[in-house]
Amino acid sequence: MTSLDRRSVLRVAASAAAAGALASGCDPKRSADSAPSVRAADGPSPRATGRSAPARHPAARPPTRAPGLPAEIEHGPRDGHAVALTFHGRGDPKLAEALLGEAERAGARITVLAVGDWLDAQPAMARRILDGGHELGNHTMHHRNICALPADAAYAEISQCADRLRKLTGSIGSWFRPSQTQRATGQVIRLARRAGYPHVLSYDVDSLDANDPGAPAVQRTVLDGIRPGSVVSLHLGHAGTVAALPPILDGLRRRGLRAVTTTELVT
Ligand SMILES: [Zn+2]
Repeated sequence: MTSLDRRSVLRVAASAAAAGALASGCDPKRSADSAPSVRAADGPSPRATGRSAPARHPAARPPTRAPGLPAEIEHGPRDGHAVALTFHGRGDPKLAEALLGEAERAGARITVLAVGDWLDAQPAMARRILDGGHELGNHTMHHRNICALPADAAYAEISQCADRLRKLTGSIGSWFRPSQTQRATGQVIRLARRAGYPHVLSYDVDSLDANDPGAPAVQRTVLDGIRPGSVVSLHLGHAGTVAALPPILDGLRRRGLRAVTTTELVT
């Protein structure tokens, strides 16, 4: 990234922070990020733009079934040369676009687990992610502490986000990742299966990027923890993560590792 690019990312970050949009996290120890200011109860928001004819775009994949892997997947094969960088999908769309651009410039593919209320506010992001060759999944409707919810409310969190994905892409998404937890309860795994997801996607490396520790710390945490087959948890909507991605991808390349979609990693 040039210093000019970096300055523009930082300017985006400053404006996002001013709008109160930066705090987020998948972990229960972190605060939930703020919901978008415009939310449609059903269907796209009034700001919805950019929905395109599906025939012009890559097909959205159905939920991935990986025979032989457990109901909750934490990582892929340890004897291969691939890893999966997986992102909590919420936050400033300019930062999301910047991150996708960095991945594509390096020939990397990522997996975005989108929060349903983010898709309501930013419906064009669903196709943008798929059109870049990346993978898209479900990260609940509102990013609540899903493991603490009663079954009916937890199921609604899964199925409402699935409905958004189906309307926008024709598929409920390749994966489901529960919100505010690394590990799913048995109940959440059963509810996800009922909603159409054979597996729940966990991870084995936590980048801790949602705490905004700075790009060098994110880079170090990921490269220190990653090994063949790893599934890394990261977040859209954080400038430090955007800045850390190119050196992370450089580090992977030096070790002979490729960043691929989660489906490519495990099937
Ligand atoms: Zn999350």
